[in-house]
Amino acid sequence: MRYAIISDIHSNFEALTAVISGIRNIRADRILCLGDIVGYNAEPNECVDMVRSEDIRCIMGNHDACACGLEEPDDFNSLAMRALLWTSEQLTGVNKDFLWNLPRELRVRNFFLFHGSIHDTNKYIIYRSDALDCFRLLDGLGGGLRLGFFGHTHVRVALRYHREALSGDLSDQVALETDAEYLLNPGSVGQPRDRDPRASFLVYDDEKQSISFHRVDYDIRSCQDKIIRAGLPPRLAERLSLGE
Ligand code: ZN
Repeated sequence: MRYAIISDIHSNFEALTAVISGIRNIRADRILCLGDIVGYNAEPNECVDMVRSEDIRCIMGNHDACACGLEEPDDFNSLAMRALLWTSEQLTGVNKDFLWNLPRELRVRNFFLFHGSIHDTNKYIIYRSDALDCFRLLDGLGGGLRLGFFGHTHVRVALRYHREALSGDLSDQVALETDAEYLLNPGSVGQPRDRDPRASFLVYDDEKQSISFHRVDYDIRSCQDKIIRAGLPPRLAERLSLGE
């Protein structure tokens, strides 16, 4: 089975449609999403509708939790906050209900999906200590789980843990070793922050035990125009061309 794993769509419908057609071209079997369907950009309903109609299995991100009213946006910066208030006004009741009912975490066969860190949607895996804590939590879940997929940072990475040594890998293809554990981030569909503005996703092949990272171009200009027309902060449009 080949799983396409996407994250942090953030109401960028152009990027989402480009990623879905990229995934069709490489014929993945299933699409899974690590949360943050909404926030920042201008088409929240279109993105939630697409996730629902494409039957993408999705977990809840911190922006989803706040946009549907389940959580208060305590640690949002002013840009994120302005977009959040706009988003929650735009979202239909049906789409708010959909976000409200998303699970926080999901176990699929021998791998685990979460948004920020395990048992904490809002926590970022940035530093070495964050990754080590998360590997400990993965072990604690039991059942021989050795792969965790996460989003939230909008930066793609493969972290490997083997015999108490942690290493990072930024290559496009990663062959998974049977005796190592991995935490993998596909990067962001709708707001990449690694200086590459193209939409990002990964494919996990559970027969070959391999990960491949992919980037696709999309119509950034069209997404930016919609941000400006919606009256959202211009900085949200500008950052998309910079990949930050
Ligand atoms: Zn996000």
